[in-house]
Amino acid sequence: MSTAYNMAEKTTDQESPPLLQAVDITKRFGARVAVNGVSLTVDRGEVVCIIGRSGSGKSTLLRCINHLDPPDDGLVILDGDTVLGHKIVGSRLKELRPREMAVQRRRIGMVFQQFNLFPYKTVLQNIIEAPVGVMKRDRNKEIEKALALLSSVGLADRSDAYPSQLSGGEQQRVAIVRALAMEPEIMLFDEPTSALDPELVGEVLATMKELARKGMTMVVVTHEMAFAREVATKLVYFDRGVIAEQGPPAELFERPRTAALQAFLRRPDAS
Ligand code: ADP
Ligand code: MG
Repeated sequence: MSTAYNMAEKTTDQESPPLLQAVDITKRFGARVAVNGVSLTVDRGEVVCIIGRSGSGKSTLLRCINHLDPPDDGLVILDGDTVLGHKIVGSRLKELRPREMAVQRRRIGMVFQQFNLFPYKTVLQNIIEAPVGVMKRDRNKEIEKALALLSSVGLADRSDAYPSQLSGGEQQRVAIVRALAMEPEIMLFDEPTSALDPELVGEVLATMKELARKGMTMVVVTHEMAFAREVATKLVYFDRGVIAEQGPPAELFERPRTAALQAFLRRPDAS
């Protein structure tokens, strides 16, 4: 039996629950089923990489996981005790209001292909906007934290720059710092290097590797096969809205079981 719905288990179970459980997630757009009953478990400190063809539903799954686009069916459970988009009242699940939802979603950081920085704010203003502007945290403390985070990604001297004055790789590192400033428990990345010039990909991957090394729990949709192979604790191959294969990266790369993954790995641009 799935333990996913059994919230009481957290107190009785000696082992800590998975940090994230997506249970039977389905998302439709009209007649099209973009994600079809997907379940995914992510343990604390894991780096799950998701690969698959364009249009297979990878972005939709990530957006369902953090409820930017709530799923039509299924649940997302954080740390065994929070059902995303809901609160537990007695033995019932009650839907959250948008404001409550926004607070809850801060536990999940997200980085997009297009960095989505505010163009008219400086790097520092971009980073402290949510913690200070929205969460009303102490401004000086947040600035101090932001500068330390910037320094950790090699951008200590760019805090007063505007996004347009930065390279794509620098902008993406700022976007990562902006997400980290909220102190999320898990980070989702949706093809974070796909919009970058090839020579800038490495610096962003290095930042992500360092984050993984420090123990951040991550779910990364990526076309960077070498990164997935090296960094992933679990590799997921997504095909037509379902997880077609998952397991240790070396196993999927060396012994793909499905014809679809075999073909995917033989693509000329798969490296
Ligand atoms: P991937 O990220 O793997 O390229 P997506 O999750 O973006 O795939 O898309 C999966 C499917 O869902 C595609 O067929 C896409 O056209 C469709 N889709 C995604 N978002 C929307 C949307 N907002 N409205 C309608 N269809 C969508
Ligand atoms: Mg996508």
